[in-house]
Formats: sequence, C-alpha cells, structure tokens
Amino acid sequence: MADTPGFSSLELLDVETDALRDRFPEFVAVAGDCKFRGCQHLQEPHCAVKAAVAAGQIMQSRYDNYCQFHAELAARKPVYDKKKKVESVTPRLKAEA
Ligand SMILES: [Zn+2]
Repeated sequence: MADTPGFSSLELLDVETDALRDRFPEFVAVAGDCKFRGCQHLQEPHCAVKAAVAAGQIMQSRYDNYCQFHAELAARKPVYDKKKKVESVTPRLKAEA
C-alpha cells in the first residue's frame, strides 16, 4: 500500500467517482446502506456494496471493474484538463444522501 495516493486529489476525484458510480446502478441501489455517505466502496468499513458482493447480490466481476476504474481515476494527477466533462455530472447522489 506504499503507493496509495494522497488525499490531496480527493476533491476532484470525488466528482469523477460520482460519475463512475453512476455507471454501476446496482452499486447505487445499495450504497444508501453504506456507513459513510461518501463511501467509495473500497477500503471503507461497513460498506453495503462490498457486503452485496460478498453475498452474491453484485457480481464480483462488476466490483473488480469498478475497483479498476477507480484506481485509474485515483492514479491520475489532479490536473484540470480541458476534456473533462464535469458539466454533465449532476450532484444527484449527494443531494439524496
Ligand atoms: Zn460503500
């Protein structure tokens, strides 16, 4: 875990991971039961998504995909590039939490 990214990029990461989570509706469906509102479904304790994976309600391969995408996002430097599509992201998940 020596290369765990620092938390300085989390603000931008939050926007992008919200968009990422929108692509996994079965995660969104259970995420309301996660202990933490901003749960990334990775290392957090009491994560409903991980519980659903363990229970077979969510396919392990889907979760693996999610982890891979998330790692790619996290590995990116927090640079504000021109191509990002933040404007297409509505903060719906935060509003309902
Ligand atoms: Zn979670």
